[in-house]
Amino acid sequence: MLNQMHKIQFIDLKAQQKIIGKKIHRAIAQVLKHGQFILGEEVEKLEAALSQYTGATEVITCANGTDALTLLLMAYGVGPNDAVFVPTFTFASTAEAVAQLHATPVFVDVCPITYNIDLNSLNQAIQLVSNSQLTPKGIIAVDLFGLPADYPALLKIAACHDLWVIADAAQSFGGAIKTQKVGTLAQATTTSFFPSKPLGCYGDGGAIFTNNLALANTIRSLRNHGAGTHRYDHIHIGLNSRLDTLQAAILIEKLAIFPFELERRKEIASIYNDALQNLVQIPKQGSKIEHAWGLYTIACQNNAQRTLFAKELQLLSIPTNIYYRKPLHLQPIYQQYPRASKHLPQAEALCQKVLSLPMHPYLTESALTHIISTIKKLSYMFEPI
Ligand SMILES: *Cc1c(COP(=O)(O)O)cnc(C)c1O
Repeated sequence: MLNQMHKIQFIDLKAQQKIIGKKIHRAIAQVLKHGQFILGEEVEKLEAALSQYTGATEVITCANGTDALTLLLMAYGVGPNDAVFVPTFTFASTAEAVAQLHATPVFVDVCPITYNIDLNSLNQAIQLVSNSQLTPKGIIAVDLFGLPADYPALLKIAACHDLWVIADAAQSFGGAIKTQKVGTLAQATTTSFFPSKPLGCYGDGGAIFTNNLALANTIRSLRNHGAGTHRYDHIHIGLNSRLDTLQAAILIEKLAIFPFELERRKEIASIYNDALQNLVQIPKQGSKIEHAWGLYTIACQNNAQRTLFAKELQLLSIPTNIYYRKPLHLQPIYQQYPRASKHLPQAEALCQKVLSLPMHPYLTESALTHIISTIKKLSYMFEPI
């Protein structure tokens, strides 16, 4: 049976081209024809479409998701002696953007169920910084694997300490809390259009979402060398961080089918959840929180068992990945920065256990059946939960 099946991809970026390939070729041809490769009309069109989709009034596209964070931190005036609270269980960019501006990322533990920033650990970190030379400025929460963090609670904590909240939604575009979509859940939100993210382009890309017009205008200037109203007026020390018109043209076509893809991700996640819930620790989501299912991540019992399990899956042509093997506070270059407590035990434990299964909107029924039946066959490897 396996021979007749297409090889299962962890994330399949080609299947989508069968559906919208022609439209994408046409969109690219159009850009080649008009030749406005930088800040061409497709960039504005995409920003309007992203604004419509998310409900955020201001959308500024930029070169990648890391720059989206950097631009936002620059617009907030973050610099030396400032502290920004970040979860330790995330991709490096979240802390990198802070450190790049010579500010101090302060590492916070995560919740073992949602994998997102833990509120007790956050309060501990805020206390710690209050008693130091650093000025606490804000919180970057991460919607890990696609699950929005607890923004209502985070905004309350932030308000008590005069901090802002940035949502790093690189993995959660399409998610929501109640009727509020990712892009509107914090004072400002960043996302990435890296090819493997829920909404990916054919290269690097990113965006910032906010309802704050003044902040948005500062970022529009910063992404374009700090330009003023005239291109050769410079009012900020900025960056060269614009989204290519070609990528914008591609993203317009991809955004058009994104709602369908998101529904399919949700269906696949619920099939996984139903089949696996009694075997392994499955990803959790609250009743009012809409997961974007950027990744489908289970937790094994420990690193040794995870290694054996992943190896067995690989033998049966089922690819898996580990996001992430090490929390940032244990990375050589980041261990010098402060953290909420000596150990951040939940993140340290999760890094030994997490395993992401194939997840993309074009996973076929037969692939899904093969993955689930294989995991069931291997369930002897797990202690009962
Ligand atoms: C991918 C990712 C980023 C960075 O996005 P790039 O576009 O690759 O720069 C930032 N934060 C998180 C959580 C990510 O997963």
